[in-house]
Amino acid sequence: MPWKWYDSKVVKIADESPTTKRFWLETVPEEKLDFKAGQFVTMDLPISDKRLKRWRSYSIANAPDEDNTLEFCIVNMNGGAATEYFFNEVKEGTNIKFKGPDGNFTLKEPVEKDLVFICTGTGVAPFRSMIWDLYEHKKSHKNIHLIFGTRHADGILYQKNLRNCNKKCQDSNTPSRFRGKKI
Ligand SMILES: Cc1cc2nc3c(=O)[nH]c(=O)nc-3n(C[C@H](O)[C@H](O)[C@H](O)COP(=O)(O)OP(=O)(O)OC[C@H]3O[C@@H](n4cnc5c(N)ncnc54)[C@H](O)[C@@H]3O)c2cc1C
Repeated sequence: MPWKWYDSKVVKIADESPTTKRFWLETVPEEKLDFKAGQFVTMDLPISDKRLKRWRSYSIANAPDEDNTLEFCIVNMNGGAATEYFFNEVKEGTNIKFKGPDGNFTLKEPVEKDLVFICTGTGVAPFRSMIWDLYEHKKSHKNIHLIFGTRHADGILYQKNLRNCNKKCQDSNTPSRFRGKKI
């Protein structure tokens, strides 16, 4: 079946690190995207006249939810056509066309074993989606180990977010634990 194209609008942008921003998009007209945590979409960005040179894929960083919001975590690559567009031109209200979802990098449910996620940079996006899915939807799971490689502490994306999630899990006595450990 051919992928479906969606129209969307950027509704919020926030700095996540000195080189990374989070972008929230809403489908217009409002339509829920049926995706699994860990999947990605492919955007058609106005960065070239040639169709295939305009396409860039981005992992969905939020959990599949009831509403029509999608979150992306995008790093600014020096001289990169798409990221220059995202960092210099995209504003709240910008329209972005995307197709998907796609990808098989998803969790097999129910989750019956400990999870070990290893990543760096925006590679955390699919893991953040998976963790949020387990947490928000109170899905049963075992321990989750997230190993995030970075040169500088401010490059650890979603650090505050995951620590808050960990604290809430500890407060509610769920088995989830996130611990920051400098190696
Ligand atoms: C499944 C999937 C999921 C992804 N998820 C994410 C995500 O969640 N977040 C994210 O940030 N990215 C993600 N990516 C990567 C993303 O799709 C883009 O590749 C990334 O944003 C860079 O695109 P760009 O257009 O900015 O860079 P490009 O224009 O493609 O260039 C990439 C780099 O090559 C250099 N370059 C370009 N042309 C030349 C040349 N002729 N000679 C020398 N150097 C050159 C550029 O300066 C730049 O540094 C994902 C990719 C895939 C396939």
